Amino acid sequence: MPEALIFEKSHSGRCGQTFPANSLDFNINQVLPKDHQRQSELPLPEISENELMRHYTRLSQESYGVDNGFYPLGSCTMKYNPKIHEDVVRLPGFSDLHPLQPEKSAQGALALLYDLERMLAEIAGMAQVTLQPVAGAQGEMTGMLITRAYHAKQGRQRKYVIIPDSAHGTNPASAHLAGYTIKTVHSNAEGIIDADDLRKVVDKDTAALMLTNPNTLGLFERGMGEVAQIMHEAGALVYFDGANLNALLGLTRPGDMGCDIMHFNLHKTFSTPHGGGGPGAGPVGVGESLTPFLPVPRIEKNKAHYFLNRDYPESIGRVHSFYGNFGILVRAYTYIRRLGAEGLCDISRNTIINANYLKKRLEAAYDIPMHRPCMHEFILSAKNLKPQGIGAWDIAKRLIDYGFYPPTVNFPLIIPEALMIEAPESESRETLDEFADALLQIRKEIDEDPEQLKNAPQSRKHGRINEVRAARQLNVRYSPS
Ligand SMILES: *Cc1c(COP(=O)(O)O)cnc(C)c1O
Repeated sequence: MPEALIFEKSHSGRCGQTFPANSLDFNINQVLPKDHQRQSELPLPEISENELMRHYTRLSQESYGVDNGFYPLGSCTMKYNPKIHEDVVRLPGFSDLHPLQPEKSAQGALALLYDLERMLAEIAGMAQVTLQPVAGAQGEMTGMLITRAYHAKQGRQRKYVIIPDSAHGTNPASAHLAGYTIKTVHSNAEGIIDADDLRKVVDKDTAALMLTNPNTLGLFERGMGEVAQIMHEAGALVYFDGANLNALLGLTRPGDMGCDIMHFNLHKTFSTPHGGGGPGAGPVGVGESLTPFLPVPRIEKNKAHYFLNRDYPESIGRVHSFYGNFGILVRAYTYIRRLGAEGLCDISRNTIINANYLKKRLEAAYDIPMHRPCMHEFILSAKNLKPQGIGAWDIAKRLIDYGFYPPTVNFPLIIPEALMIEAPESESRETLDEFADALLQIRKEIDEDPEQLKNAPQSRKHGRINEVRAARQLNVRYSPS
């Protein structure tokens, strides 16, 4: 039985809390005009605290997160979120701050933001960082607006942004929002940007190339030097999508690869809880020549005093209110400070080992289209399982019966029936083995009993739902009948 809505559990007259009667001499009509007052009772559920508690506890247990088990969702870096982050972010000095508080009474928070900007700039090889954007996608748009401002200053507006055919959907969306038209550069047989094709696509109207490294096939773009040179010779910028930084930390830096602008996904690489569209942070880093265009206010330091500087006439302006998602920034700061430089290097080393170990365990059973050493993730394809009537979707759904969250499916678009598996550093060898065993067992079922997969998941309260309908005809309103 699905959990009923809290409104359906409501019984008139029940309540969780009782308040003393209002003893103040207070007349609502004196503070709020009649036409601003509610005309009817607010239709809130009436329920005891006991029932309320059980309702939400049960709902929380129907959900799956990194604290339940392995979450191999490729391109999302669903790693463990250390619980000390939650303690730090709840320190009253952080949690009780008001965003409109005067600068001089928020010096500690400003110092933390200032230091976080410096640490991210160092990690990425960039000159300056803004912490304002609150998602990777918003970071991309900020980067594209900086690109526009840069070309405008050169006195030549340009029309196109080039994006590889393997890119994440937010890349073309962000460039489009910033007013650019998208051109595609193809991947070569190796799965990385085809430099010859890039030369054909670039022209004097090209504003920038947006690329992801390691790319969404989990492969390192090793032609970066050449790619950056092609772009710079055409007077265009290189934008680096840093969502996959988990495989690069401490090993190499986008700035050293010749990239001009980048975003970080703090909620992925720097371990803050994410998923379901929850809060994130997408700071943007730029090279020296682009710093005048960064969003304002910028956090600066004069001797020991931190302050907000709005005096940058070439700035693209604000992209978010106040300081961005402050709580996420505190968590990322804590993460970096606890690990230190050597700890950050270990993250990427262990991430790369984990992904390659999993890939090795699965290679005999599944088709691996780009079979090269991978970075933090790799892709299986179910295309060769058509004769058994099985696609990527069926394998993903069957994994739920084995107790795992499914990997990303049907992305990137250039691999048919893709299952994109990411194995962050925080997973143990035992967990990876259990996951590999499940996938190997499923591969057996595909030959012996494919119906098992077509009806999966069977072990959950809800079977296979129509996800397109759930997205297109979403109904979250309760209408009392
Ligand atoms: C997650 C992701 C993004 C978008 O980041 P959000 O924080 O979800 O907006 C962009 N590019 C790649 C490669 C990603 O994995």
